[in-house]
Amino acid sequence: MEYQYKELFRQNLVEWFNKEKRDLPWRRTSDPYKIWVSEVMLQQTRVDTVIPYYNRFLKKYPTLQSLAYAPQEELLKMWEGLGYYSRARNLQAGVKEVVEKYDAKVPDNRHDISKLKGVGPYTAGAVLSIAYNKAEHAVDGNVMRVLSRALHIKEDIALPKTRKIFEQAVDMLIDPQRPGDFNQGLMDLGAMICTPTSPKCLLCPVRDYCIAFQEGDADQLPIKTKKIKNKKIKYDVYVGYDENGRYLLEKRPDEGLLANMWQFPMIEISKESVLKSSDEFQLNYNVDIMDFVNDNLLTFKHVFSHLTWEMNCNLVKIVKATDLPENVCFYSKEQINQLPMPVPMLKILNVLN
Ligand code: SF4
Repeated sequence: MEYQYKELFRQNLVEWFNKEKRDLPWRRTSDPYKIWVSEVMLQQTRVDTVIPYYNRFLKKYPTLQSLAYAPQEELLKMWEGLGYYSRARNLQAGVKEVVEKYDAKVPDNRHDISKLKGVGPYTAGAVLSIAYNKAEHAVDGNVMRVLSRALHIKEDIALPKTRKIFEQAVDMLIDPQRPGDFNQGLMDLGAMICTPTSPKCLLCPVRDYCIAFQEGDADQLPIKTKKIKNKKIKYDVYVGYDENGRYLLEKRPDEGLLANMWQFPMIEISKESVLKSSDEFQLNYNVDIMDFVNDNLLTFKHVFSHLTWEMNCNLVKIVKATDLPENVCFYSKEQINQLPMPVPMLKILNVLN
């Protein structure tokens, strides 16, 4: 890939980054473990949300060893509210591998680091360039947006194969002396200036070398065709309590969405449902309910990346519970506060408090 302004582009970007960079806790360290943690937390989550989690997490797990052998329930509790919990489990598995296979030293080359659980091409490049000063690409959605505009790349960024083109573009442009600053500069530029809508081109450090700015079509880039379908599922949620004021909770399976997190029992409502959801609840969980105390405790939607839960929550009194399923148990409010619970369940808990 040829690009005549490459030197000027990289110089302006790195200088701008060093002047304007946001003061973030993970930018005050060159410890690859801490940078790895930050990059995993930042996937799909806003910087402002991540900061308190990052600080708390590293206080609890300051070293690779401390995270590698932490109990999973405690780890999920630390991650509670950040979502995408498989990130936490993969991070722990990857960290354990580093401790056991690499003598607690995060690998400093793409080949080895990419083999760690949960470390994709972006995270690998971010850790290698920021912590180890290696000229390695780290291409995420922000970077694709900036480069699609600056270099006028019109490939569909929804197609997995397109990433390669952007990785080659970064390989061509990256500052070999300051690769970490270059990559972070691209990320910050995408987050602060070259935003999805209304890019602030007049403030942009690479405006003079941006083809989309010259052509006046920045708002039409990047090209992204594929729309991810978001499936909707309706649930009746049963917030059931016993005579001691303890609530019935269920642990989710140890694989898949929100694995190992705790929730109030949820009954899916579909066209095929033959039983009333309250009957299904009683049958599935071996409980008898006296009455609906409140059949409209809370109604809300929770949107994941690929599906939406439409939740209708009912408060019910449980008068009899025999032979509860293995993953189901009554807990007091104090005990519930110690359990890892996903955000939609925390919303319900909030109403109960
Ligand atoms: Fe993005 Fe505008 Fe800068 Fe080009 S000039 S990189 S479109 S902000």
